[in-house]
Amino acid sequence: MKFSAVVVAAGEGLRAGPGDPKAWRRLGGRPILRWSVEGLLSAGAEQVVVVVAADRLAQVEGALAGLAGWTAVAGGSTRAASVQAGLAALTAADDNAVLIHDAARPFVARAHVERLLAALERADGAIPATPVPDTLKRGDGVVTATVSRDGLWRAQTPQAFRHDRLKAAYRTWPAGEEPTDDASVLERAGGAVALVAGDPMLLKLTYPEDFLMAEQLAGGQRIVRMGQGVDAHRFGPGDAVWLCGVLIPHDHGLIGHSDADCGLHALTDAILGAVGDGDIGEHFPPTDERWKGASSDRFLKHAADRVAARGGRIVNVDVTLVCERPRIRPHRDAMRARIAAILEIPVERVSVKATTTEGMGFTGRQEGLLAQAVATVETPA
Ligand code: MG
Repeated sequence: MKFSAVVVAAGEGLRAGPGDPKAWRRLGGRPILRWSVEGLLSAGAEQVVVVVAADRLAQVEGALAGLAGWTAVAGGSTRAASVQAGLAALTAADDNAVLIHDAARPFVARAHVERLLAALERADGAIPATPVPDTLKRGDGVVTATVSRDGLWRAQTPQAFRHDRLKAAYRTWPAGEEPTDDASVLERAGGAVALVAGDPMLLKLTYPEDFLMAEQLAGGQRIVRMGQGVDAHRFGPGDAVWLCGVLIPHDHGLIGHSDADCGLHALTDAILGAVGDGDIGEHFPPTDERWKGASSDRFLKHAADRVAARGGRIVNVDVTLVCERPRIRPHRDAMRARIAAILEIPVERVSVKATTTEGMGFTGRQEGLLAQAVATVETPA
């Protein structure tokens, strides 16, 4: 069944303690909002409408960079108003399925969505729910009653509906009242809402401790990958060489189609290698006139963007330059700073080293310069 989704992230989440509203906090290096949107897109959502506070609209582009299939709209003053703003922005036909999801439940996955859509075949709505494992008490300081938990369920999101039924139900909801979830709006309008098996992984991040637990869970869903790159360029006429984004005076230049920055080329290949995304020659063919004399920082930036597009982040990089001359050491800090700036990572996570081959081989004869690089990248599993 085709479906769209509305992700509600307009609330401030005051119970979560000080700091950014929870949808904007980071989990495993990515905004929580991104986890939710990615989960729904990879489960097959045709469109995800993200509802945020009006003053956060500009931030969404950054949080969801590299993802396709989402739109963002400004929310209202209540959750119900925000959901309705999201529903209004859907482009799919009115009888399609729509999932309404709280951004603060980052671990939504395909299996959850499939169970809901299957249940929606025989109901107007479907929600994931888990049994109540704890004994329930009523009281205020002292217990006044023990409440039977028979037939009680804890409702989670995403909640699935026929788009047109939910819209119609919202139109009949009494003004001034605030529903605690979307299913209750449909229930009040007489709709049948199916209960499907919920999942502890659909936990809602509410209190500061929830974020600590979620970090542990997020860690288990990410992997570390390593890539390596090698590049060599021949010395030729000239009075300076570009190395690791820094121009160094020398009695020769380096020959190449672009600026021949061996260090950045090796590093670009290392990063592309870590995410299994081809090599620099594939992304920037040397036959293409656009890259003639090009500054190699754009190649490196492109590789970093490819990592970000997968929800990954660069952990650290290490470049080794192999040459007798020019001397690298005086320029090493400038090179590290330049690479850190291009990759937007702290300089402590960038290493640049140099060595010679003691006069042996092409680097020893000073015919050319060799660069090797490794990069460690962390991505969703
Ligand atoms: Mg090269």
